[in-house]
Amino acid sequence: MSIRRAILAVLIILVLSLLAGCGERADRSVDPAFRGMMDLRASNLSESVVKLNGEWEFHWRQFPDPAGNPVPNDTNHYLQVPHSWNGYDWEGKKLPGAGYATFRLRILLNDRDAGQTLALRLPTIFHAFELWIDGVSYARVGRVGTDRSGTVPSLATRQVYFQPRANQVELVLRVANFHHMRGGITKPIEIGAASVISDRTMLKTAYEGAVTASLFIIGIYHLLLYVQRRKDPATLWFGLFCLMWGVRSLLVGEVLLTRLLPSFPWGAQIKIEYLALYVGLHIFTLYFHHLFRDETPRWLLLSSRCLAVLFGGAVLLTPAAVFTRTLLVYEIIIVLHMLYFLYAIGKAWRRKKEGAAVFVAVSVVTFVSVLNDFLYYNELSSIANTSNLGLLIFTVAQMYLLSSRFTRAAAGEERAGRELALANERLQEANRNLEHKVAERTGELSLAYDDLRSAYDQLFQSEGGRKKMLSYLTHDLKAPLSSMIGYVEALQDNVKPENHAAYLSYVYDRAVWLNRMIEDLSLLSSLETGQISMNKAAVPVEPFIRQFWEKYELVLEEAGLHEEIHVNPAIGSGDPPIVHVDPVRLEQVLANLLSNAMKFTAPGGSIRLTLTIRDMDGPHAWICMSDTGIGIRQEHLEHIFERHFKRYPVGFGQENAGSGLGLAISKEIVELHDGKIWVESNGRDGSSFWIALPLAGEEAGPERRTLDEREPHSDR
Ligand code: ADP
Repeated sequence: MSIRRAILAVLIILVLSLLAGCGERADRSVDPAFRGMMDLRASNLSESVVKLNGEWEFHWRQFPDPAGNPVPNDTNHYLQVPHSWNGYDWEGKKLPGAGYATFRLRILLNDRDAGQTLALRLPTIFHAFELWIDGVSYARVGRVGTDRSGTVPSLATRQVYFQPRANQVELVLRVANFHHMRGGITKPIEIGAASVISDRTMLKTAYEGAVTASLFIIGIYHLLLYVQRRKDPATLWFGLFCLMWGVRSLLVGEVLLTRLLPSFPWGAQIKIEYLALYVGLHIFTLYFHHLFRDETPRWLLLSSRCLAVLFGGAVLLTPAAVFTRTLLVYEIIIVLHMLYFLYAIGKAWRRKKEGAAVFVAVSVVTFVSVLNDFLYYNELSSIANTSNLGLLIFTVAQMYLLSSRFTRAAAGEERAGRELALANERLQEANRNLEHKVAERTGELSLAYDDLRSAYDQLFQSEGGRKKMLSYLTHDLKAPLSSMIGYVEALQDNVKPENHAAYLSYVYDRAVWLNRMIEDLSLLSSLETGQISMNKAAVPVEPFIRQFWEKYELVLEEAGLHEEIHVNPAIGSGDPPIVHVDPVRLEQVLANLLSNAMKFTAPGGSIRLTLTIRDMDGPHAWICMSDTGIGIRQEHLEHIFERHFKRYPVGFGQENAGSGLGLAISKEIVELHDGKIWVESNGRDGSSFWIALPLAGEEAGPERRTLDEREPHSDR
């Protein structure tokens, strides 16, 4: 059994035990009254109550004064109580509801009961009464009169406590009814010991109060549920139905309303009671429709609405004497509806609709309880007011159904919420992935952009180099080519045939010179535009210098020049100084400087290579190529590294003339090694070309190479 079913079972048991607590404790062994006399001598009123049912003396249209003018003893009319006087055969005539009468009952008591305080429980008597006990007026509800205007109807219960004077007690009741369909004592009057009656009254009141309060609470709770969640109108109709039935339960049984508000008008009271019944059916049909849509035909909704309007209208517009006549018809309508509901629920049950099984069980209980009430109102059943309890049981079952619907809806919403959260998480994850992917792609794109950019730069540089080269060629090669063309034309035209050999030799020299020039130009433009990468390595500078010098010692001697290499002795003492250079390019620079020195130094002069370490923003290797040649004039010193700067002394052989690019190339190479190149000369006693190269730090260690390991180089 699920927890919810267990709770439902506990609730039903509670309600049933409540009912049991209020159960009848009437002594059923007592004989009913006979001919206005009730013998209670054999009963024990201290333990149980006795219903004063049976034949009461009935005096139609008589109001004798029980105090002064005793009720005549010669009557032959006895009315069965509880029963209305409607239809009683009075001298050949059936009595109507409207009229007045006096009832009398004599009660015989045993000594024990006669000696104690006794009590009477008077139900609602239709519709005004006055009670005398042994000629003393004890209770009055409304005002009894002999016509409509003199009668004030009222519905209220009463408890009357009295001390019997003797073993016989006379009860006289004046009853008048001019406002309702029925008149008379329609519910049993009970007698018992005062404590028994008061306990019983208290229990009944508590029970009815509990049922009423439950209906109100359940009703308000469901209305609030509807306010919170309008999707399910079943809660609205159910809440309204409970409230209406709660109001109605205040007006029946112990008529709690009249206890709370004694002056509440009877007319409004009875209209509300009837309206709750008449409109309640339609509201219940609406509720039923929302629970079992497929099983509720439209005509049922429509007919219940029409009936509610019709009968409700009658209640509102006509006096109680008229509209109370409609009760029987409406009760039949209600029973028919209930039968249809039972049939529809049975259908739903067969279709395994949610909650139909519970509905079937409680509906049968409710149906029986309501049916009993109708029978009771029509004086065909002796058990009073069962419908409230039946409806309470029904209500508890409905709460179970509605709460399970709500729970399922809430569970569905929770599930949807969870799924939504999961989907959201996935979406966020996807977003994160997307962001990651976008970042990745952006990185790739930016790399591609960088590649493209460097490719573009290279292209731009090579394009620059190409343009530079082109401008060099057009500028530098034009003159020699023109002169070569001149000599070739002279050869073709056979001008001065005796000079032909000289012309040819000249053309050849110029062609060789041009070839060298093109190579130099090409190298220079490549260096300037960064198209030549330096193949740098850690080179110990001293061995490098010495090996270079060894190669040229002989050449220098043959040229009649004194040669000398000088390495600062401090260099040999510590760690060998290392430079981070492309050895081939550095050798090219040194060879150019040496070739210039040889060119501008006459035989007998001397050329000297010096290596020392000096500080110049950090330790540098200073290499100096100095000669004792013609020197360089002051004004030429700052232009000497420019492209095509060349100055030759008078008589300098044309065949030895250079391109004027050697120093420009040397400068480019040195600067590509973060070094400096400069010249010193006073214009007379030779010149000194200095190169300063930064010494490599410790990190250059692994790259160290000796000159012997270097790769062969194809450039000049
Ligand atoms: P090239 O030697 O091919 O003419 P360089 O660029 O090597 O071109 O030299 C440019 C000029 O610098 C030379 O024409 C010369 O006037 C001057 N020069 C270079 N080295 C020396 C030197 N050792 N002594 C005197 N002048 C020099």
